[in-house]
Amino acid sequence: MRTVLITGASSGIGQACAAVLAKESNYRLLLCARRLNRLEELKRRIQSTYRSCEILCFELDVRDRAAVETALANLPESWRKIDVLINNAGLSQGLDGIDHGDTGDWDRMIDTNVKGLLYVTKHTVPLLANSENPHIINIGSIAGKEVYPNGNVYCATKHAVDALTKAMRMDLLAKGIRVSSIDPGMVETEFSEVRFKGDKERAKNVYQGLTPLSGTDIAEIIAFVLSRPPHVNINDLLVMPTAQA
Ligand code: NDP
Repeated sequence: MRTVLITGASSGIGQACAAVLAKESNYRLLLCARRLNRLEELKRRIQSTYRSCEILCFELDVRDRAAVETALANLPESWRKIDVLINNAGLSQGLDGIDHGDTGDWDRMIDTNVKGLLYVTKHTVPLLANSENPHIINIGSIAGKEVYPNGNVYCATKHAVDALTKAMRMDLLAKGIRVSSIDPGMVETEFSEVRFKGDKERAKNVYQGLTPLSGTDIAEIIAFVLSRPPHVNINDLLVMPTAQA
C-alpha cells in the first residue's frame, strides 16, 4: 500500500488523481487544499465506491509557510510515512501584458506555484524517508516550456517548476527519490475560471474549436508513471490535446 499526498485535490487534476489512484486500490490518500468541504465531499464520493480506500483530508494554503510546516509535522502517526507527493496546487490569474498586469495576481501565482511547491516539498521529504519507493510528481505545464502572449508571470512560474524538477532530481537522488514532471496543455478544469476571475463565458471560450484534455487524462498518465519499477524514471512528459498546436 502506498500513501500519496496530493496538493490542490479539491478540483480538476488533483481531484482526478485522487479518483484514479483510489481505483488502483494500492493507494491511501492524503488530500489537501484550502476548500476542506470540497475535499470531504470527494472523500465521501470515493469511499461510496471504494469502501476500503483510506483517505485523510486537511485544509492547507500552500502559500502559508508556517501552516505547511505545522500541518506536515503534525500528521497522525499512521500517516507519517509518505510514498508519493503530487505537487499539483497551482493557478493562473489574469492574462495581461507585463505593463498592465495586476501585481497582486503576480504575487498569488509566484507564492502558490513556486514558493508553495517548495514549502510542501521541503517538509514532505523527511516523510518520504521510510518509503521503499519514494516519488515526487510536479505538475508543470506547456507554459513551462514555451511563452505565449500575455502569459508572462504564469509562464515564468512554470519555467521555475521545470527548473526545480531538474534540481530536485539531482538533490534528492542520494535519498532514492524519483522526481518526474507532467506538463499538460489545455485541461478543462476550474483553471480558466480562476484565470478570468469567475468570468464563465470567457473561461468557456478558451476551449472553442478543440477538445481539451480532462483531469482524468492527466491522472491516468500519472498513475502509469507511478507504476513503473523503481529503476525507471519518466523524467518529463508533455501531454497535449491533439488539436492544440
Ligand atoms: P483547478 O483550478 O481546477 O485546481 C487547482 C487546485 O489548486 C484546486 O484544488 C485549488 O484548491 C488548489 N489551490 C490553488 N491555490 C492553492 C493554495 N494557495 N493552497 C492550496 N491549494 C491551492 O485547476 P487545475 O486542476 O487545472 O490545476 C492543477 C495544476 O495543473 C496547476 O498547477 C496548474 O497550473 C496546472 N496546469 C493546468 C492546466 C489547465 O489547462 N487546466 C494546464 C497546465 C498545467 P483550493 O482552491 O480549494 O485551495
